[in-house]
Amino acid sequence: MTNLLEVQTREVLQEKPSGVLGFGRYFTDYMYSADYTEDKGWHNEKIVPYEPISMSPASQSIHYGQSVFEGLKAYKTSKGIQLFRPEENFKRMNQSLSRLEMPNIDVEASVDALKQLVALEADWVPSEPGQALYIRPVIFANEPFLGVRPANQYKFLIILSPVGAYYGDGQLQPTKIYVEDEYVRAVRGGVGFAKVAGNYAASLLAQSKAGKLGYDQVLWLDGVEQKYVEEVGSMNIFFVYGNKLVTPALNGSILPGITRKSILELAQSLGYEVEEKRISIEEVFGDVKAGRITEIFGSGTAVVISPVGEIKYKDQIATVPEQVGSVTRELYDTYTSIQNGTRDDVFGWIEKVE
Ligand SMILES: *Cc1c(COP(=O)(O)O)cnc(C)c1O
Repeated sequence: MTNLLEVQTREVLQEKPSGVLGFGRYFTDYMYSADYTEDKGWHNEKIVPYEPISMSPASQSIHYGQSVFEGLKAYKTSKGIQLFRPEENFKRMNQSLSRLEMPNIDVEASVDALKQLVALEADWVPSEPGQALYIRPVIFANEPFLGVRPANQYKFLIILSPVGAYYGDGQLQPTKIYVEDEYVRAVRGGVGFAKVAGNYAASLLAQSKAGKLGYDQVLWLDGVEQKYVEEVGSMNIFFVYGNKLVTPALNGSILPGITRKSILELAQSLGYEVEEKRISIEEVFGDVKAGRITEIFGSGTAVVISPVGEIKYKDQIATVPEQVGSVTRELYDTYTSIQNGTRDDVFGWIEKVE
């Protein structure tokens, strides 16, 4: 593995933040950077100080949105610093890149680069329960050209941000979700399955609307009939029917969450039945009201698991029987203890940072 760090001695550039970390507010001293051009492919891979980058005002990503990203975390554990399924993120990044007609990256080399960067920034990985180092890879077009066609120049950055515990006291909090029946997030044949910047731009108006109505998150319905449940904000969604977990089947417009996939595996190993299927919002409402759905939770890297306590759809409101249910809690505790190293990883999900 080549050493990507440009300088020989690591300088401490910033004071570490004290107090509440929040999410995505602080950035570490160094970042990974690489460039792509048509003739050279990916090149210029290096670890450089974190600082503003300069690019042309005509950079294509600003105008036409060729920008994809990823999100994962590193945890400080008694066994050292651990990453959770990093190759899954870079594989998914390639799927997103392909959908936007952007050049793929080398998954193994990207994991290696990430390990070097995290090892260099080891002091930045926070160690309180629930805290982590959030990792944000991003690739965007930076060719200065206003014609509409795939760019022939791209930049790949990995930046790091120490983040706080989502649940400060470790107590899961139920959220209220608003079922959006006017706007949609993604459509069949579109870019819903890809982690692309534009999907988030498209979601903000509905998120603000839900916020004004007193709801925490938007639950998206399918973009064709606005009838079937897709996902929540930046999380996939699970419905608990006693001993069985149901989640919407991946259909091209749902983001294939790595937490979703891991929870499905974990739940089965704990003896739960799991089912991926198309599920309508009417069915969900009926099942919540009849008490067949006992718990609902969202899953995603940032929050891990977020229990849902209430859902609003048009003029109906349904209160979920168990606000923070026992299944939700068991999955949360088991999952987070694999991540923080207090439980053995029998799944092979953990990658150690040397
Ligand atoms: C990233 C993301 C998720 C969750 O994916 P994880 O890999 O579990 O973090 C879910 N939905 C959307 C729209 C996302 O962007």
